[in-house]
Amino acid sequence: MMQLIRGFRDILPGESAHWQAIEEAARRLFADFGFQEIRIPLLEKTALFARSIGEDTDIVEKEMYTFEDRKGDLITLRPEATASVVRAYIQHKLYAGDPFHKLFTIGPMFRRERPQKGRYRQFYQINAEVFGTDSPLIDAQLVYILMTLLGRLGVSGVQAHVNSLGCPVCRPDFKAALMVFALGRSAALCADCLRRKEKNPLRLLDCKVPSCREAMAQAPEMGTYLCPDCREHFQRFLSALSRLNVPHVPDSRLVRGLDYYTRSTFEIQTHVPGAQNAIAGGGRYDGLVKALGGPDIPATGFAIGLDRLAEIVKKDSQSAPGRPDVFIAALGGKSREKAFEWACRLGEKGIFAEMDFGDRGLKAQMKRAGKLDARYVIIIGESELSTETAVLRDMAAARQEDVPFSLLLGTVIERIGNPH
Ligand code: AMP
Repeated sequence: MMQLIRGFRDILPGESAHWQAIEEAARRLFADFGFQEIRIPLLEKTALFARSIGEDTDIVEKEMYTFEDRKGDLITLRPEATASVVRAYIQHKLYAGDPFHKLFTIGPMFRRERPQKGRYRQFYQINAEVFGTDSPLIDAQLVYILMTLLGRLGVSGVQAHVNSLGCPVCRPDFKAALMVFALGRSAALCADCLRRKEKNPLRLLDCKVPSCREAMAQAPEMGTYLCPDCREHFQRFLSALSRLNVPHVPDSRLVRGLDYYTRSTFEIQTHVPGAQNAIAGGGRYDGLVKALGGPDIPATGFAIGLDRLAEIVKKDSQSAPGRPDVFIAALGGKSREKAFEWACRLGEKGIFAEMDFGDRGLKAQMKRAGKLDARYVIIIGESELSTETAVLRDMAAARQEDVPFSLLLGTVIERIGNPH
């Protein structure tokens, strides 16, 4: 038997209805806040991710699905969406005229992480990106949108962890201080941290290895290194969250694994204990558009993990296929052809007509119609074919009538309420 690849998953029909409900809630919310959808490719040139995510990150170092295509070009299955959205923003000059854009995209991402509960190698994200303003109010609005989505989906007990990562003016001093601190504790650090402490010492703050956590417990905090502009920016972010009554806690350990983040950074966490408690994360990446060859335009965004969201959102969406409006019970090959044509024509009119494609008797077909809870049943057999009149049965009223073929579809459409 063929099995799927480790770390990959199927979203089966019952589950997919639940996912659809969540995606619809997200789409509605994005419309409420003026976001437009952008659809980006699954494959991009490897260099895009290496440049935007950073060479010395887990994603680029060990998690990307990268391969040569038939011409020898290096391409990668997208591990996240921001790089591609920024690339598209620059490539299509979306900034011309008005740089301000609010975009969202929903789809799969690929990272070759160690599979475990809540962690997949193909997982799904809902992404939002806002270009063209460095205002902390937009950062607060993004957190508010996340919280609103969770609220509309009935998820409670969530909190935003927030931090500021500073900017190119103040971050170097903080990095230097961290490096000096880490140097004094080299003996306790894991191999990854030892390797990263010079190039990306921020990463030492979110290493999950217990000895590293302990060694870095007293590490310097970005808060004390923020320049006046970044300090004010962070304060305005926090007070906007307070005004919007968003539960939030400053968290100096929140550094994000990606290089291009500046200033406001946030993560939405649930209180459910366990390692995978971040449902969403995001923040500002003011330098990325320029770094990828575009104009100097600030931007900010977030990503929600759809797999984790689907796990914590209560399932109340319908998981069975919809109830048929009509079941057509046909007896014999000729009748079945007629039934098939009617089912297609009704479907085209927005009426769900089910039928039996086998050769079962009337009793079995009526039983199936009952099981599917069809509202109406059309019966067609030898005698109906000869008189060109079908039987139309209202199941709830247990009433039936003869309807000439020529009037049948019109009658059904009228009874069902003509949805289209
Ligand atoms: P990131 O792009 O790493 O900031 O992740 C944003 C969100 O995507 C996280 O908060 C998770 O909810 C989700 N996520 C990231 N990696 C995975 C994964 N391997 N499996 C499932 N969800 C993930």
